[in-house]
Amino acid sequence: MKSQDIRATFLNFFQEKAHLIVPSAPMVTKDDPTLMFVNAGMAPFKEYFLGNGTPKSNRITDSQKCLRVSGKHNDLEEVGYDTYHHTLFEMLGNWSFGDYFREEAIAWAWELLTEVYKIDKDILYVTVFEGSDDDDNLKMDTDAYDIWKKLIPEDRILKGNKKDNFWEMGEQGPCGPCSEIHVDIRSAEEKAKVPGSSLINEDHPHVVEIWNLVFMQFNRKANGTLEELPNKHIDTGMGFERLCMVLQNVQSNYDTDVFKPIIREISTITNTKYGTNEQQDIATRVISDHVRAVAFSIADGQLPSNTGAGYVIRRILRRAVRYGFTFLDKKEPFIYRLVAVLSEKMGEAFPELKSQKQLIENVIKEEETSFLRTLDQGLVLLDGIIASSNTKEISGEKVFELYDTFGFPVDLTALILSEKGYTLDEKGFKEHLQKQKNRSRAASETSTEDWTVLLDDAIEEFIGYDSLQANVKLTRYRKV
Ligand code: ATP
Ligand code: MG
Ligand code: MG
Ligand code: MG
Repeated sequence: MKSQDIRATFLNFFQEKAHLIVPSAPMVTKDDPTLMFVNAGMAPFKEYFLGNGTPKSNRITDSQKCLRVSGKHNDLEEVGYDTYHHTLFEMLGNWSFGDYFREEAIAWAWELLTEVYKIDKDILYVTVFEGSDDDDNLKMDTDAYDIWKKLIPEDRILKGNKKDNFWEMGEQGPCGPCSEIHVDIRSAEEKAKVPGSSLINEDHPHVVEIWNLVFMQFNRKANGTLEELPNKHIDTGMGFERLCMVLQNVQSNYDTDVFKPIIREISTITNTKYGTNEQQDIATRVISDHVRAVAFSIADGQLPSNTGAGYVIRRILRRAVRYGFTFLDKKEPFIYRLVAVLSEKMGEAFPELKSQKQLIENVIKEEETSFLRTLDQGLVLLDGIIASSNTKEISGEKVFELYDTFGFPVDLTALILSEKGYTLDEKGFKEHLQKQKNRSRAASETSTEDWTVLLDDAIEEFIGYDSLQANVKLTRYRKV
């Protein structure tokens, strides 16, 4: 089944159950001070759950563009290293605003997966909330358990804790238990190695959560206690790319038709072959993911910039450039060339990609060009620093200078140094960073100043460097 049909089938299924199909809301939020980007399908409907305003219909379905790169949901570091977390992804959802509840939500999810998409029941697992004594005597979600046990053998219903199986909008407000649906797409060989359903909690790359059904049943009051909501709601979210992986019988989201054309284009442009070199594969996945995030965001009107949401987008793009530069040996702009394939592939479902194609290409090319120039200059300077150093540890001050004056990313400095058998004085670097930060605070610069923002970024980049290092050495992505 092609991805377009998978999406359409979801929407049609819920339309037949009297849901109104609505288009995705823009991914960049303009009127929610607590959220920079939509990170879940429910975000655009938040006000309805809070009782402010009335939705067009009390049953809605859609495919929402989500971005998980900051705040509570930040998957950036996973992207490229695993095969099922993206920065931008589509969340398929169905909602009930004070209308149907658990019984229908579970029955319909099961019907869609097993009877319409015809997923083999034997590869599905579900979780239910186990309860929590220390939170207002929250009971186990026996209602969900009793519904599930009519559908699935009990040994495939797992109990989950508050972290995974209890959803809260915030410190106050609507909340409730949830049931997740997981899929086990391990090969027979993989199963033989580690049998059993306990794998759900073990982070196996081929046992993956696909759908989360939230039963919004309580209201958390300011004093922390819970009261039953008079109107109960349903909020569900299914990862579209993960669903495509299952239905297209592959073991990675990147092997679905959502990503394949982009990956093919990257391989052609960089003269590499996906699937033959792990580090190049990671870089290829990172770039194929990030170009989507950046393109969709530009199409939504959010250009890369030095502040706020624009700065997040700029950093995502720079991360992609860096992976291309370091691992695919690509020293000239090329990411903009992927936009044509993307808009061809996704333009039907998201027309803004087609209508804004030229702008997206121009902006990405411009960004790539200027960042590559920075990288080129930085490399020359770094060579000079290494040549003039009489120890194997490069001083934090020098690295800071390179960063501060030339905008050369710290993680890249660290990577290059380690490749050449050098280390950097991390402590010294952080001290200089802190001093600069203090100075900038004292001077109370506005956030529109380039360097003020870049300083905050340096700290994050530095954390990023640690894990980039770890990834390069340990390769978190397990080949199985
Ligand atoms: P995970 O545990 O895999 O990180 P999650 O519990 O954080 O997922 P939810 O917030 O429950 O995810 O979102 C609903 C669904 O969205 C998930 O079941 C999954 O299919 C999908 N999803 C979540 N995060 C991502 C991501 N970064 N990329 C792609 N799909 C995602
Ligand atoms: Mg997550
Ligand atoms: Mg989860
Ligand atoms: Mg979940």
